[in-house]
Order: sequence, then C-alpha cells, then structure tokens
Amino acid sequence: MMHPPSMKILLANPRGFCAGVYMAINVVDELLTSCPGEAIYVYHEIVHNRHVVERFRNRGVQFIESIADVPEGAIVVFSAHGVSPEVRAQARAKQLRAIDATCPLVTKVHAEAIRFAKRGWQILLIGHRTHQEVVGTRGEAPDSIQVVETPADIPHLVIVDPTKLIYLTQTTLSIDDAATVIRALKEAFPEIKEPPSSDICYATTNRQTAVRAIAPQAQLVLVVGSRNSSNSLRLTEIAEIDGTPARLIDDASELRSEWFIGVDTVLLTAGASAPEDLVHAVIESLVRAFGGEVEQVDVFDERMEFGLPGSLRSLLRERGIDPEGRRISLDRERDTAVFLEERGIAHHTVTLTIGRST
Ligand code: SF4
Repeated sequence: MMHPPSMKILLANPRGFCAGVYMAINVVDELLTSCPGEAIYVYHEIVHNRHVVERFRNRGVQFIESIADVPEGAIVVFSAHGVSPEVRAQARAKQLRAIDATCPLVTKVHAEAIRFAKRGWQILLIGHRTHQEVVGTRGEAPDSIQVVETPADIPHLVIVDPTKLIYLTQTTLSIDDAATVIRALKEAFPEIKEPPSSDICYATTNRQTAVRAIAPQAQLVLVVGSRNSSNSLRLTEIAEIDGTPARLIDDASELRSEWFIGVDTVLLTAGASAPEDLVHAVIESLVRAFGGEVEQVDVFDERMEFGLPGSLRSLLRERGIDPEGRRISLDRERDTAVFLEERGIAHHTVTLTIGRST
C-alpha cells in the first residue's frame, strides 16, 4: 500500500452486530454445543454475512433454501430475517424441530401485517421485493400485501379502499429512501395510515445516523459487510450520497492501495451482520500499512439485547440444560478496547452527541 505520513481511523460506534443478529448467531452456536453429533439445518443464511455462514458451515451446519432438503424430524433453524407461514407449515408437515431465530423486530412487522390484514386493510410493504425478510412478511397475508420498492411502483398498485390502507417497511431500509417512498405514497393516498411505530429498526437507524454524522470528517468510508447485506449496502450508499466515497468489503483482504491515495482519514464501520473480528483485522491492516491511530467516535450508546427464543429454550430444557444459564451478552466496546491495547494501537474516544437510542 502507499504510505502517507499516518492514518486517522475513525471507528464508528455503533457498528456491526445488532441484537437480532447476535441472538441468531447465538442460537446456532448453542445448538452446536448442546446437540453434539446431530445435524443442524439452517433455512437460508442465518444472517447475511459470508464469513458467519462459512464459519458455521465449517462446523458442520447445513444451509438450505428449501425445507424439502431437510430430513424428517431434524432440527431446522429459521434465520434472523424470518419466514412465511408456508415455510413453517412445511416444517411442521415434516415434523421438523423448528427453532425460530427470527429477530423480534421482524416478528413485530409480521404481527402488524397479520393484524391489519385480518381487519380487511390493504398493506403496502415498502422494501426490496426479493429480500428474504420481505418474502417472509408478505407471506403472512399475500392477498392483502403489495410490495412497493420505489415511487415508480405506485401507479401499478391495485387499491380497493384508500381509507383502509397502511404502509409497513422492511427493517433495514435507508431512512432517506423510505422517506421518499412514504412521501410519494402520502401524495397518492392522503389517508394512508402509518405503522404504529417505525418499522426501520433501531440498529439500522443508529448505524446510518452515525455514518452520516461522521463521514464528513473522512475522505473514505470503509463498510465491513457482505454484498447481500441490505443494511451494509445502505451504509455505503448514504456515505456516497453525502459526498464521501465508500467501499463495501467482506474483509481486510479486499483492501486496495489505490483507494488510499491522498487519504489521511478513514471512517470504518460495519453492517449489522459483520463480526467484530473482521473490523479488527481491517484496523490491523491499515495500521500496518500506514501507521496512525484509532479515534472511536461514540454517536449512540446502544444497549439492546434479545434473549434466546422460546423454541430453543424448550429444546434445551428437554435435554436437561437450564436455558437461564445461557445468557446472551454483547460487549463490543470492551472487546475492541482489549484488541487495541493488546496490539499496542494508539487510540482514544470522542463522543459525538446527536441523540440517544436503545
Ligand atoms: S438489523 Fe434490525 S431487524 Fe435486522 S436483525 Fe438487526 S435488529 Fe433485527
């Protein structure tokens, strides 16, 4: 790599794992520990990150895209993105032991869809048509839900009664893109109802807000995440729309020296499904190539945690394992502090106060 005098690495906080992803990964980890020798199947990628999936695959987990590929009676995990009732029914028909690792914030959107569909409302689901989460949510009430990706979809909608119309959203959308679609929907259907609370989740909102707040201090934004990770892609888009070039990388091996010509300050963040050790490896590569220091920029103090799902707790109890002892706890700040100290990387923390979120 090229060698400018030294590199300032702005480390966005929060970044990386959200509570839903952390819970889903813990579910598969726990099954591998508690059910040794048993085949563990996961429907779809447990979270959208290549490394997470590869690491589990190396430990024997089998990722499938169809319930038909799971043998009768086996354990199957539903991914953090959620599944449609049809998939749940297929699993029941094969008497699978289904463990539901759907993020509770996705389940909340499913519940809203079911509730309004039962009352005879039509639902406009703002999101990416082929994304696993949208496929799952839409499956809750396919006759009542139409997907809206952009304002260009609005003229093609079939609306029976514009006074019984609500919009819901995918949890990982760009806040700005969603706002554009919502504005257009309100213009087209002034009586459209809003969801009871925002469907774009706290983790998506916090990571996007942090990038937007910090990126103007940097000449380059690096987002650790996979290309099929919706929230990671949105982080790169937000930086670029605001005028800072951004690169989405799966890991440090994808760094290219030409990106750093004339760059002395980099903002480093990670999508909600990217493991923190991959972020650490990028820091190590940058410091090795350029020297420099890490400035941790705290924008939100994020403390959200989800417990293990009920379906896994039941399975653990049946096997004589007390689920209460299997606590999920994520402490990114402590892990990063230990990493920086161990590597002798100069670092300090600044607080950029623009709000507070869970
Ligand atoms: S990004 Fe949001 S909705 Fe998706 S798993 Fe994380 S917390 Fe849940």
